[in-house]
Amino acid sequence: MDDQQRNSGTLFIVGLGPGAPGLLAPDAAAAIDRADAVVGYQGYLDQIADRLEGKALFGRALGEEVERARLALGLAHEGRQVALVSSGDAGIYGMGGVAFELAAERGTDVEIVVVPGITAACAAAARLGAPLAHDWACVSLSDLLTPWEVILDRVDAAARADFVLVFYNPASRARTNQVRTVAERLLRVRLPATLVGLVENAFRPGERIEVVSLQDLADGRAHVNMFTTVVVGSSRTFLDRGRMVTPRIYAAKHVPEMAHEPVQEPPGDRIMAESLAIIERELGPEPVDIRERAVLRRVIHASADFDFAQTLRFSPTAIEQATTALRSGATVLCDVEMLRAGVRRDLTGPLGVEAVCALHNPAVPGLAASEGLTRSAAGIRVAERAWSNVVVAVGNAPTALDEALRLVVDGPWRPACLIGLPVGFVGVEAAKARLIDEGTRRGIPFITNVGRKGGTAVTAAVVNALLELAAQDRRTEPRGALG
Ligand code: SAH
Repeated sequence: MDDQQRNSGTLFIVGLGPGAPGLLAPDAAAAIDRADAVVGYQGYLDQIADRLEGKALFGRALGEEVERARLALGLAHEGRQVALVSSGDAGIYGMGGVAFELAAERGTDVEIVVVPGITAACAAAARLGAPLAHDWACVSLSDLLTPWEVILDRVDAAARADFVLVFYNPASRARTNQVRTVAERLLRVRLPATLVGLVENAFRPGERIEVVSLQDLADGRAHVNMFTTVVVGSSRTFLDRGRMVTPRIYAAKHVPEMAHEPVQEPPGDRIMAESLAIIERELGPEPVDIRERAVLRRVIHASADFDFAQTLRFSPTAIEQATTALRSGATVLCDVEMLRAGVRRDLTGPLGVEAVCALHNPAVPGLAASEGLTRSAAGIRVAERAWSNVVVAVGNAPTALDEALRLVVDGPWRPACLIGLPVGFVGVEAAKARLIDEGTRRGIPFITNVGRKGGTAVTAAVVNALLELAAQDRRTEPRGALG
């Protein structure tokens, strides 16, 4: 073979797209037509069989990537026009990288031409709706060439940044549990109701599309195999008539080209979403716990006061106990009517929760007089006899908080959670400090803060955030796919 011949060889690295003939790019088809030799996984060659007549074919089994790339380079080196094909895009977990690495290693003078293809992430996203409309990150879960620890580190980092996540190679015949492990990791920073789109064989025979929750994925209730692309939504991704959408216009200042389109969310929701996004941006990394963060966001939303990021205190089981109780229809016992009025009916209704105010029992004035209690404290004492499955919320009177704590410490009363966030100058800081101290020592679930700040609006925000979390938990209880 002389130099002339050697230099005339070309290696086309060609992405075939997801599988449908219409999604094979014209340039990719042209490169294959020009090639006299085609190298690739046999399954992909079968997919484009009608284009391969008269060519030398080198179909290989899965997993022999390096051998395929070496073979293709060798053929090109002999002066042939060679197409090395991959599904999707050849440069994305495909033959492109392998071929260039080998070429770099042996210093070939073969001309290499790369033809892009539609990668699985695009194909899957198209089937799901528009889940990748905002920032996203892609991770292959195959630990064949990447240590599993590195994969998990990347998943953690991307999850913390609230990227939409796309997983390639979520399973193989031998490897079936990784996706569950990953889902469990994601649950540390994402809510159980986070949407997960699963697309198997996008734009190929045997296509299957399913949207489930992150909890479903963690619990092994989702069907995932080596032909599946997994798309995990960000905190903002929503489902509309079965389509998974990550919004990108809520934060935009001007959206004139959208003005004629129907507004999906009512304006109130949009302002709320934008407010929560601003809070999320300005909030530091703490708290890491996603549920504590959700409560804190609501508190800051109600007060515009970021000090709560430093002062809010949760006992370790508080949110769990409170949401479990609310899911079972617990009563929310409020110290004052203004707090009760702030608890959202649209949240209590579906859960069968009732918010009541302790002050209005007819026994309260008499008890207050005879025992020398404030009316608020007397209200708590009357309520103790009436409700056992209860979340106590005190937003106004430190004496009510003291009384509730005393009843728990001295007696058999076991509210699921004591929320104590009164505001003021007299007795307030001390009552909260006692709650933290006694609560921590005795394992009483509590949510409170350090200092004078608080009030009924802030307390209502905590109660409403807990109701939202309880409702989300309920939505992710075992059930079939969403659509
Ligand atoms: N180069 C390919 C990716 C190869 S890695 C591309 O750009 O698409 C193989 C993984 O890609 C599979 O495990 C699966 O997660 C994903 N994948 C490839 N084709 C797919 C398809 N048609 N539908 C769904 N997932 C696909």
